[in-house]
Amino acid sequence: MASITLNHLVKKYGDGFPAVNDVSIDIADGEFLILVGPSGCGKSTLLRMIVGLEDITSGDLLINGQRVNEKEPRERNLSMVFQNYALYPHLTVYENIAFPLRLSKGKFSDEEIDRKVRHAASTLDLDEHLERKPANLSGGQRQRVAMGRAIVRDADAFLFDEPLSNLDAKLRGQMRTEIAQLQRRMGITSVYVTHDQTEAMTLGDRVAVLKKGILQQIASPRELYEQP
Ligand code: ADP
Ligand code: ADP
Repeated sequence: MASITLNHLVKKYGDGFPAVNDVSIDIADGEFLILVGPSGCGKSTLLRMIVGLEDITSGDLLINGQRVNEKEPRERNLSMVFQNYALYPHLTVYENIAFPLRLSKGKFSDEEIDRKVRHAASTLDLDEHLERKPANLSGGQRQRVAMGRAIVRDADAFLFDEPLSNLDAKLRGQMRTEIAQLQRRMGITSVYVTHDQTEAMTLGDRVAVLKKGILQQIASPRELYEQP
C-alpha cells in the first residue's frame, strides 16, 4: 500500500513546451485516481514518470513520503498495466503470471511462486485456464492475465494506461466491473488513464483533468460530471 505525492512535477522533452507542467497531486493510500484529458496532454508521460520509465525534469515524486526521483523502476514496487497487454505468446497463462516473480531470481521459492500465481488466478477467475496459451484466450481473459501479472507482485500501487481501450464495448463493461471489484477487495492505490467517462465514473475516487500538461481540475466524478 502506498500514498503517492506529485510535487510540482515537470517533464520537458527537448526545449519545447513541457509535456507535464507543474503538476501537484496528493494520492492517498488506497485511492483510485483517474487521469483524463485530450490526446497529447501528458497522461502517459505522467504515468511513466511515476513508475520510473521517464526521467523527472524538475519537482519531486514521493512514495509513502520518501523521495524516489532517482530510484530505479524495480525499487519503486509499482505495477503498470498497459493497453496492449504484452503477454508472452509461447508461455502458458500460469507462466505469464509467474514471469515477474521468476525475474526476481532467488527471491521466491517454486512453492511461493505457485501459491502466489494460483491466488492471483483465483482472484481473477482464471483457475480453469492456467495451462492455456494467450492465443487460445478471449480478449477479456488476456486482459485478466495481464492484471494477474500486475497483482502477483504485491505491488504498492497500480498504474493503468488505458487498459481497456482495445476491447469491444461488452468486454470493456465486464472488465470495468471486475476492476471495480478487485479495487474493493484489494483497496490498492491506483492511477488510471482513460478516455471513457463511464470508467471514470465507476472507478474513480477522484478525477484529475490535464490539458497541455497542466492540471486543470481535480474533483470527485460526481462533482465533475454531474454539475448542473
Ligand atoms: P497523452 O498520454 O495524454 O496522449 P503523452 O504523455 O503521450 O500524452 O504526450 C504528451 C506530450 O509529450 C505530447 O506533446 C507528446 O508529443 C510529447 N512526447 C511524449 N513522448 C515524447 C518523447 N519521447 N519525445 C518527445 N516528445 C514526447
Ligand atoms: P530493462 O529490462 O532493459 O532494464 P525495461 O524498461 O524493460 O528495461 O525495465 C526496466 C525496469 O523497469 C524493469 O526491471 C522493471 O522493474 C521495471 N518495469 C518495466 N516495466 C514495468 C511495469 N510495467 N511495471 C512495473 N515496473 C516495470
